[in-house]
Amino acid sequence: MAAPDGAAPPRDAGDRAAHVGKVWLVGAGPGDPGLVTVRAIEALSQADVVVYDRLANEELLDHAPAGALRIFAGKEPRRHALSQEEINAVLVEHALAGRNVVRLKGGDPFVFGRGGEEAEALATAGVPYEVIPGVSSAIAGPAYAGIPVTHREVASSFAVVTGHEDPTRPESRIDWEALARGPDTLVILMGIGNLAEIASRLLAGGRPATTPAAIIEQATTPRQRTLVATLGTLARVAEEQHAVAPAVVVVGEVVRLRERLAWFERKPLLGKRVLVTRTREQASGLRQLLAERGAEVIELPALEIVATAPTETVRPAIETLARGGYAWTIFTSANGVAAFFRHLDQQGRDARIFAGTRIVAIGPGTAEALRQRGVRADLIPEQHIAEGVLAALASEDLAGSAVLVPRAENARADLVEGLRQRGARVDELRLYVSRPPEAPDPAALARVRAGEIDIATFASSSTVRHLLQLLGGDPAPLARAAIACIGPTTAATARELGLHVDVVAERYTIPGLVAALEAYVAAHREMGSHDDA
Ligand code: SAH
Repeated sequence: MAAPDGAAPPRDAGDRAAHVGKVWLVGAGPGDPGLVTVRAIEALSQADVVVYDRLANEELLDHAPAGALRIFAGKEPRRHALSQEEINAVLVEHALAGRNVVRLKGGDPFVFGRGGEEAEALATAGVPYEVIPGVSSAIAGPAYAGIPVTHREVASSFAVVTGHEDPTRPESRIDWEALARGPDTLVILMGIGNLAEIASRLLAGGRPATTPAAIIEQATTPRQRTLVATLGTLARVAEEQHAVAPAVVVVGEVVRLRERLAWFERKPLLGKRVLVTRTREQASGLRQLLAERGAEVIELPALEIVATAPTETVRPAIETLARGGYAWTIFTSANGVAAFFRHLDQQGRDARIFAGTRIVAIGPGTAEALRQRGVRADLIPEQHIAEGVLAALASEDLAGSAVLVPRAENARADLVEGLRQRGARVDELRLYVSRPPEAPDPAALARVRAGEIDIATFASSSTVRHLLQLLGGDPAPLARAAIACIGPTTAATARELGLHVDVVAERYTIPGLVAALEAYVAAHREMGSHDDA
């Protein structure tokens, strides 16, 4: 958390007084980081300073330049990190100092976010500003719960009301009795603390006690939970089920539509905390597949790739390859492909070097790494493991053939041994080691240590080994988690190290792993063994 008076680089150091920065009042959307506008991302990418609220998804801060000053403004129910006056002053000061400022606010900046007051303060100070509207939780929350706020047959109007004002206080400006008779759908923000009073005033105003109502907590996030009640039972249900802020409350006949339309809460991995242990560069595909299925993804890369082979040890093999001296070249990982191409590049060579060899890629990930570099694998075994490579080469006469295997320092020996048993002359290139990261993300590591993970995914033996090293050799923090492995080799390593393996993919690929995981969770949910009601 940065101090509000921390020094950000002036936008134009030579011309400080003359240049005034701009403030964008930006809606961050309701929580799902995908529900942000293109304009918001454009503004963030130009920001020198970002002042953000608790309800704005912190992932969005990644769109700001690395050097931008990030200021947390708080806005928690009872504890403000900065008062509204302080926030206004911070915006004005940074802009007058020539910096571009993004004021990132949950939902839409002009729906109960005090964005109007911030705009007024900027106008008063003569600071140029723009407003970038956002997707409000008032509409997106119900939408993610399967509740359209209007519907041709059921509701032709809706109102968005704050529930924050104590309705029993005479100075409350909200005429709940009028609202009871007015708009068809009522959407109440900040209402969790005052539900009993709000409900009783709506009943007093004539809304039937049987009117359906819903409470949507942490809407649009993997932790979304929806409670359904009626106006008459709303306060009791909220208390019994321990409803907590932030939550959107919806009162109206449209709530009934949820029975058929609750699309988001039917996502197969919704709410599951899934650990991804791949390298940063490799994790994005898995992360996306999991997030699309509703999982909360926790990334703790357990691998760091370090190139080890000195140029001199690789040069002879590259020269042999260039002469067409290898019948086969076998790549066993995408990392091996990347490392080999770095050597090629350093030696002034390119993909044409593969003209005289046939190429095996152990699996689709490795094949894709080759394809991105302009090379198509001749052979991808059905089983993406060493035995699979040997099986795929079963009909080839390898006796006396030269085979090049660029691979990791700490890879298993069985592929090379198997090839030698068949009479091949194998040149191994030990190009890199994978090791546990030197500086693992402390927040992610703490969550794993605290036993927060529901499902841990492993796409290689080394990620299992390294994660356990990060945990000091103790598998206990994963005792509660389901362990999901990409294939039998990884699963065997996991068992050796004391993990109980629950899921082994049938196809040894990332989509295969996700499919297996989905099936496992579905079977588990049917058995009624999940604890989130
Ligand atoms: N400007 C925001 C609202 C700010 S007031 C918007 O347009 O969404 C804060 C209130 O918004 C919270 O008390 C809660 O009622 C609601 N809210 C915001 N984000 C929410 C979320 N993800 N889930 C449920 N309610 C949310």
